[in-house]
Amino acid sequence: MNPNFLQTPIEFLKGVGPNRADLLKKELGIHTFQDLINLFPNRYLDRTRYYKIAELQKTNAEVQIIGKITHIKTVEQKRGKRLVATFTDETGTMELVWFRGQKWIRENLKLNEPYVIFGRANWFNDHFSMPHPEMELVKEHEKSLRSAMQPVYPSTEKLSTRGITNRVVNKLMQQLFSEAQNAFVESLSKPILDSLKLLPKNEALFNIHFPKNASLLARAQYRLKFEELFYIQLQLLRKNLIHKTKIKGYLFSEVGDYFNSFFKSYLPFNLTDAQKRVIKEIRKDVGSQAQMNRLLQGDVGSGKTVVAFMSMLIGLDNGYQACLMAPTEILSVQHYNSLFKWCNNLNISISLLTGSTSTSNRRKIHENLENGSLQVLIGTHALLEDKVKFNNLGIAIIDEQHRFGVAQRSKLWHKNERPPHILVMTATPIPRTLAMSVYGDLDISIIDELPPGRKSIKTVHRFDANRLKVFRFLKDEISKGRQVYIVYPLIQESEALDYKDLMDGYESIVREFPMPEYQVSIVHGKMKSADKDYEMNRFVKGETQIMVATTVIEVGVDVPNASVMVIESAERFGLSQLHQLRGRVGRGAEQSYCILMTGHKLSHDARTRLETMVRTNDGFEIAETDLKLRGPGDIMGTQQSGVLNLRIADIIKDGEILKIARSYAFQTLRDDPNLEKTENNPIKFTYAQLAKYRNIWNYIS
Ligand code: ADP
Ligand code: MG
Repeated sequence: MNPNFLQTPIEFLKGVGPNRADLLKKELGIHTFQDLINLFPNRYLDRTRYYKIAELQKTNAEVQIIGKITHIKTVEQKRGKRLVATFTDETGTMELVWFRGQKWIRENLKLNEPYVIFGRANWFNDHFSMPHPEMELVKEHEKSLRSAMQPVYPSTEKLSTRGITNRVVNKLMQQLFSEAQNAFVESLSKPILDSLKLLPKNEALFNIHFPKNASLLARAQYRLKFEELFYIQLQLLRKNLIHKTKIKGYLFSEVGDYFNSFFKSYLPFNLTDAQKRVIKEIRKDVGSQAQMNRLLQGDVGSGKTVVAFMSMLIGLDNGYQACLMAPTEILSVQHYNSLFKWCNNLNISISLLTGSTSTSNRRKIHENLENGSLQVLIGTHALLEDKVKFNNLGIAIIDEQHRFGVAQRSKLWHKNERPPHILVMTATPIPRTLAMSVYGDLDISIIDELPPGRKSIKTVHRFDANRLKVFRFLKDEISKGRQVYIVYPLIQESEALDYKDLMDGYESIVREFPMPEYQVSIVHGKMKSADKDYEMNRFVKGETQIMVATTVIEVGVDVPNASVMVIESAERFGLSQLHQLRGRVGRGAEQSYCILMTGHKLSHDARTRLETMVRTNDGFEIAETDLKLRGPGDIMGTQQSGVLNLRIADIIKDGEILKIARSYAFQTLRDDPNLEKTENNPIKFTYAQLAKYRNIWNYIS
């Protein structure tokens, strides 16, 4: 085949004139022959079975029948005309009906010749009728490439009203395949094809459009899904590989006194195996010549902070500075406070820089950073300001990654002659398959184990009607010395109303839990940050027993004595948010509780979310359910990554294929990083096209 054949503009295909070409481009983005080949069907209709008219059931199902038209007439109605044909086989008679395109049909239908018809058979006025059947003369039907499993192509309203029906697309596809003569270039290597017993390219493309039978269709789908995911993974892994070989990082060649004496003398607990494993992974990264670019996933409370701190110590041991950036002021203060103690023990200089740092303090920090006397800087976005110049930043930790954009991450790079090692930490577990696609170019570490002795949080769902009982329970817990969070939703679209709910709720709590026996704090986004901090601090210190809040407490705060989390209007929160909120309790030795309050009316999805929360504490399981409920579209990072543009694979359903594809992509690059082996020629060729075309399928075939 002429290599440029597939790049032929679509208007040159027989059957496609300028009008149709225009529609295909606008509606489906089909510009070339290749685009058409890669228009994969959404589903298939089973046309292996032929029905007799006498067999039809009143189920309104799609059926295929062979028979003849014996009579045709136009029926006048109040609202326009319809064309009605009498269709018979040897067992009975039914009607075929058209509301549109009557003239053309009337002129072209042949009486008393056998047709295959296909469509929905409706039971109507004591007989079956089929509106707008697909039909074909039996002699044509037998000749055509059309197979038993009939593809249904993606379409749009405009396409079908302008006459580009599924059948037309099917015809065009036949035309294209007969011109192409089945000479598509193989895009996977022989070893991969053999090892997975994949269909060759030609057969896969043929069977995806004209499946000979269900089993070949399944194999064609598998091969094309694999291929799509393989090339995405190859791209991501290659990016990672290039990053590692091209971008030099600072070499932390030794683990020295800071790290060792912290580990020996000051570490207040034994590390979990997961924490040890992750620290080892980080040590390996920073001890190589490459710049670390690692994502650390770990459920809330899994102990990421100490891992971050020990990584910073390795940097300090090698004479570098370290920083830790968090998305909110509250969180950075909290980090600062916990690291401050440790740093003090170790004689390490540490400062906090946020939006509310005073000008004089700020100036001092800038100065000490530049002259290198300040070793550790904790803070918010304020760290990214141009005035903040490090003497030698060796490692940067970013907490709660989803709040920072990629652009911000890369800003940290330019504070130095070389990029610092970067460790991004997130408490929002991302399903593994999705992480492979969204963060496939990062290295990923996972803390999949909680520190020992944690009691798992008991979660219950209660209706608003039981509020009094819930209050009694809160009083019991408070009398035992515990503290309680009560959280209200705050959603931008309904902000005014939500604030009203929050304030109403606050008032009723204050009434129910009166002073001086009880002290209630409130924190929300409309407060000045000094007031917020004041209230937050009172709660942290145990001066107040109840914290009423909007989701500002969602990230990070650590109050081990708080053991009850009440979530109001829980049905309005997303799963990952609920899980994050629940993670605020269960940090101390006491049994903790999460109470999900809702009204009686619940949508199906809301019910599933609540049931999931009650059933499990496992962040990864919750993330999987979340992905199934919401689809990948709403999950952070998916937009940029293009996982939504998959043509044939499904990021949710095809997780297994994705894992296989990733491992094959990995092996391929491990054995032949530059794709120089002859056997990898097809991959090299295909990969080279990658840069040229945006859509992955434009270079695969
Ligand atoms: P997160 O991963 O949510 O940031 P933190 O780092 O804040 O979790 O840790 C949660 C709590 O668990 C902290 O109070 C911390 O001191 C404690 N912790 C961390 N690791 C361990 C461990 N290995 N053993 C016992 N407690 C630990
Ligand atoms: Mg944390």
